[in-house]
Amino acid sequence: MNQTSELCTGNRILDSLPVAERKRVLHCCEDVTVLEGESIGFPHEVIHYVYFPIDCVVALMNQYEGLDESSFTLVGPEGSVGASLAVGIDTWQVRAKVFQGGHALWIPIQAFKHLLQHAPTLDRQVRMDAGNQVQCSRDALMCVKRHTLSQRLAGWLLMLSDRVGKKHMYASRQMLAEHLGASVASVARELTYLVRCRAVTDDNGHIEIKNRRSLRRVACRCFDRKSRLNRVRAAENGRRIDYAPSKRLDDASDRFVLFRLRHQNPAT
Ligand SMILES: [Zn+2]
Repeated sequence: MNQTSELCTGNRILDSLPVAERKRVLHCCEDVTVLEGESIGFPHEVIHYVYFPIDCVVALMNQYEGLDESSFTLVGPEGSVGASLAVGIDTWQVRAKVFQGGHALWIPIQAFKHLLQHAPTLDRQVRMDAGNQVQCSRDALMCVKRHTLSQRLAGWLLMLSDRVGKKHMYASRQMLAEHLGASVASVARELTYLVRCRAVTDDNGHIEIKNRRSLRRVACRCFDRKSRLNRVRAAENGRRIDYAPSKRLDDASDRFVLFRLRHQNPAT
């Protein structure tokens, strides 16, 4: 095993750093376990740690005027949480709530600030990550107001699948309702629709994506926008995520999806 692979953490930002810089950064990292449902950051509170998820997924949640709190993005092993420190913001601007528990590496704030002065690649990566998250937060208001719950649910499931790196995920209707800022009944209705069009199966919250292309056809364009942001970051890290659009409709489920999209109104 060479030195580079020995230093791999599973977090793309950390693993993209040059070896010497990565050693310096990992020296300041501590392993931490985060639990499902745990809030690791509250709006206006001081940021104490920057998290680099390994196998956990953290939802960044915001409450827009007149609307229920909802997730505007998910952060998994491709990103960081609390990275706004890199752009001079040392308080949480949004709530950071663990959607899927697991492991992360964290760096205490003082050590992180010191590292930014001596780790230029880390500085660049977390600045870009923080910028992407701010952009996602800005886009989310338009998404919630203009796009249907089924569009948002489909995009959210795709985003979760990309973060956990699997087609199988656990997301109860209660959890989905909380993160989409909708009622459980509305989420149940839209999930049933996705099952009917054979995009997913749902066994008491154990959701499996059966037809990613169908799910992508339902999802609003916000998912593609977030995916493009990820691709930029992934390319920077030497990896690419393939979000190539499908070119034709060749099965019944795709046609059913398009029919429904043409005949529904934005509503939750
Ligand atoms: Zn949208």
